[in-house]
Amino acid sequence: MLNTNVKQALQTQGVVGAGGAGFPTYAKLADGAEILLINAVECEPLMYTDFTLTREKLSEIVEGMRLIMEYAKIPTGLFAIKDYRALKLGLEDGAALADGITVKHIPNVYPMGDEINLIYQATGRLVPPGNLPITKGVIVMNAETVYNAREAILFGTPVTEKWLTVGGDVKEAFTLRAPVGMRIRDVLNFVGVDVPETHVVIDGGPSMGAIKNPDVDVVTKTTKALLILPKTIPAVLNKLRTPEDNLRRAASVCCQCTRCTDMCPRHLLGYPIEPHKMVRSTLSAAQMTPELVKTASLCCGCDICETFACCQDISPMAIMKEYKAILAKNKMRYVAGADEVFTPNPDRDYRMLSAQKWKEVMGVAKFDKHTTLIPDLLPARRVEIRTSQHIGAPSIPVVKAGDTVTAGQLVAEAANGLSLPQYASIAGKVTYVDATKIIIEV
Ligand code: SF4
Ligand code: SF4
Repeated sequence: MLNTNVKQALQTQGVVGAGGAGFPTYAKLADGAEILLINAVECEPLMYTDFTLTREKLSEIVEGMRLIMEYAKIPTGLFAIKDYRALKLGLEDGAALADGITVKHIPNVYPMGDEINLIYQATGRLVPPGNLPITKGVIVMNAETVYNAREAILFGTPVTEKWLTVGGDVKEAFTLRAPVGMRIRDVLNFVGVDVPETHVVIDGGPSMGAIKNPDVDVVTKTTKALLILPKTIPAVLNKLRTPEDNLRRAASVCCQCTRCTDMCPRHLLGYPIEPHKMVRSTLSAAQMTPELVKTASLCCGCDICETFACCQDISPMAIMKEYKAILAKNKMRYVAGADEVFTPNPDRDYRMLSAQKWKEVMGVAKFDKHTTLIPDLLPARRVEIRTSQHIGAPSIPVVKAGDTVTAGQLVAEAANGLSLPQYASIAGKVTYVDATKIIIEV
């Protein structure tokens, strides 16, 4: 059963990358993989979700790795975690977790959660720009994804709950499990956390997360953290600027010092991404060549160029983001040719940004605190199951208003092509359905 049904189990139970853009996990399993690399690095400040999950559920995660490795015939498994966190959990670098599975310490620098940087750091393999990790024989999965994979493979359990951190400028920070679709405000109310007028809620890390409306937005399969942060710190100010503001600032003051390029973690890997040139191109249409625009697709959105590197408060990342959106709309991106060679900068080790420094620069160091675990699943009286919680086609609802559903029941099936189904995370009555969501109330 195992060797034929693992991929199917991941697909039918809706397993998705729990820590990133939401790539369907079944679609990552491909022939030729040599290393299964687990990302428990959590490179963003204030995040304790994977750390807590590792502390509480390491044997289940390792079993999930073993099941996937056995199915996909992957000989090597690496469990990548920041060195200082691993030591807190008693996990030495190179320690064996199971046959063929070892711990891999990752230095405490930012942004090590970036898949391309993590692969290079953990394995020494450099994925050519625009290519998938499998081209270098690597499959990367988040620790929680593998935990969910085990539940799906062994017990047929669909993904209906989410581990996440509630933290930031709060009295006490928590790691908890919430039903998928629970309104953010309801999660915060449960743990007694207010969001003052002066603050925002960020879904994800302070650097790469997005501002959310707690009364409208809900927990999804990719929510890793809900951080309450003041509007006045750099991490939030950057998110509040409009694209027009960013373009105006870039066009007026850039001195072309190239520091943004020198510090860019993707550039340090030898990728042809040069944020200073991108900024320069905003001044002159002649410099905005199609080849240059395409390199924006290589940006991982780490924000180092804006918040750390630039002394003139310019956001090369915002310009990258604009170009990336245009490229995505036109289904274009930079893809390296098969014979191209890329070499990491020999100074990379010295130029990588200390995570402690990053925390301070973002203005969040004072909010960093260990979380208290709430082990029981949070109770919810209303959930809103979004049909698009993954990369690919949205799921198609199979229930209608008035239906009664049980927890774990299929409420939206996968569409054709790359897609995943959705399941009810609580028992109750379906009160609303459209193409984007299904609302269930107790
Ligand atoms: S660091 Fe700032 S000023 Fe220097 S080149 Fe980059 S955008 Fe321009
Ligand atoms: S956000 Fe800036 S520093 Fe980070 S990858 Fe993109 S261009 Fe490079």
